This record gives sequence, C-alpha cells and structure tokens, in this order.
Amino acid sequence: MQTATLTGWTQLAPDVRDFEFEVPGVETVAFAPGQFVSFSAEIGGKRITRAYSISSPPDGNRFHICLNRVPEGLFSPLLFSAEPGFRVDMQGPLGTFTLRDPEAESIMVATGTGVAPFRSMISHYLRQGGKAPVTLLFGVRHEENLLYRAGFEEWARLYPNFRFEPTLTRPSDSWTGRAGRVQPHLLELVGDRRDLYIYVCGMKAMVDDVRATMRGLGFDRRRIVVEKYD
Ligand SMILES: Cc1cc2nc3c(=O)[nH]c(=O)nc-3n(C[C@H](O)[C@H](O)[C@H](O)COP(=O)(O)OP(=O)(O)OC[C@H]3O[C@@H](n4cnc5c(N)ncnc54)[C@H](O)[C@@H]3O)c2cc1C
Repeated sequence: MQTATLTGWTQLAPDVRDFEFEVPGVETVAFAPGQFVSFSAEIGGKRITRAYSISSPPDGNRFHICLNRVPEGLFSPLLFSAEPGFRVDMQGPLGTFTLRDPEAESIMVATGTGVAPFRSMISHYLRQGGKAPVTLLFGVRHEENLLYRAGFEEWARLYPNFRFEPTLTRPSDSWTGRAGRVQPHLLELVGDRRDLYIYVCGMKAMVDDVRATMRGLGFDRRRIVVEKYD
C-alpha cells in the first residue's frame, strides 16, 4: 500500500473537481493511460475503498483525478472536504481499460466524470504522435458540465486526427451543438463502419446500453471496451 498526498484541486463544474496528487518518495507513478487508482480510508470505523480513473497523462510521481461529489456517498464527500496535504492510502494504478490498438481508429464515449480516463488516453496518444483518428463523444447535462472543455477544444484545433463532439441533454437556447443522449450521435458517427474500436466509460446504464447497441450492429465484442463506475 502506498500513500498519495493531495497537492491541490480546481473546481471544474458544480460538484466536480480535479484533484492533483503526488506519491512522495517515488520518482514515477507508472501507469497505462486509462487505468485507475484505488483509494481507501477509514470512514465511520470501516475501511472504505473506491476506484478513481487517472485523468492526466503520465507525469513523474503526480497524477490527477476528476471527481464527482455524490452527496449521499461515503468517499467522495471525504475527498471534497480535503485540502492540500491530505493523505490517502492508495493501491495501483490498476485496470485494463487502455488503448487496444494504437493504429486503429477509435470513438470514445463518455458521460460525466467518465471522461477522465479518455483525457489521459487522448492527451498521451496525441503527444506521442499517434496518427489514427480519435473521436471523443462526451455527453453531459448542461454546457457548464463539459469537464476539461477548453483542453479538448484546443486539441481539436491542434491535432487534425482528434475530434471533440460534446452533446447536452439540457441545452440552453444559445447552444448550437449536438443535443440529447450520446446513443443516437454514436450511431451517426459510426455509420456503416465496423472496424473501429468503441471505448465507453460512465455509469452502468449508459455503458450497457451502448454496448448492446454496438453488438446489435454487428461489432466484434473485442472492439467494444468498457469501464463502469457503478
Ligand atoms: C474503475 C472505476 C473508476 C472510477 N472512476 C471514477 C472517477 O474518475 N470519478 C468519479 O467521480 N467516480 C469514479 N468512480 C466511482 C467511484 O469509485 C465511487 O463509486 C464514487 O466516488 C462514489 O463513491 P461514494 O463512496 O462517495 O458513494 P457510494 O456510497 O459508494 O455510492 C453512492 C451512489 O453513487 C453512485 N455513483 C458512483 N459513482 C458516481 C459518479 N461518478 N457520479 C454519480 N454517482 C455515482 C453509485 O451508483 C451509488 O448509488 C469509478 C468507479 C470505478 C469502478
């Protein structure tokens, strides 16, 4: 078991923060973009463990997570009450939600904080010179919930092989982009292609629905890679 120390946080949206941690005493936290860390703490006399996807690319002994505060939850309120210097037990990085084939075109589908592992994967991939087309389809409720929006928009300007496709389920009148759930937009983006990799991350209901829809279209199961948060 290692200990991670909170070095700072920034508010990304109402009830969502980006937390930066470092692991003192090590030079590198080695991980494959897409993996998560497992945090644990004593809460109310019980040891509670929760997984959090790393939202940053590999960067020495530092990493970021993107956390949604679940008001009735146990662990997320603890992290939301933490200030720099707060220490938490950590295992990992762990998990197999990583890029399967760097040469293949991919569509990444996220809702809410499910965008975290994709931010790590995409930034690492583009910085490493990855050339295959990558589309991020990101569904949230309101425009203000588009986590890390400025960064994704900048990458879309800088890298011709990256497309950022946000969709809002509660758009304001001034919103001219995609609206509604991610599912119909994914169908449009996929078209008649079956040679893509589809990566999906978020809450179970969305992930299961997208996977079933893609299987129904005839996608090979190995081309649908998922991570569920609940
Ligand atoms: C592999 C993996 C990676 C994860 N990565 C992240 C991440 O990057 N960011 C993140 O915020 N959460 C992430 N989660 C969810 C996280 O582990 C916790 O479940 C979440 O923080 C709630 O914990 P809690 O103790 O506060 O609430 P709990 O007491 O455990 O649960 C309360 C309720 O919150 C729901 N819930 C779980 N996650 C979320 C969420 N993100 N948004 C809204 N409701 C939720 C659960 O369905 C449950 O009904 C991940 C989960 C897994 C399995």
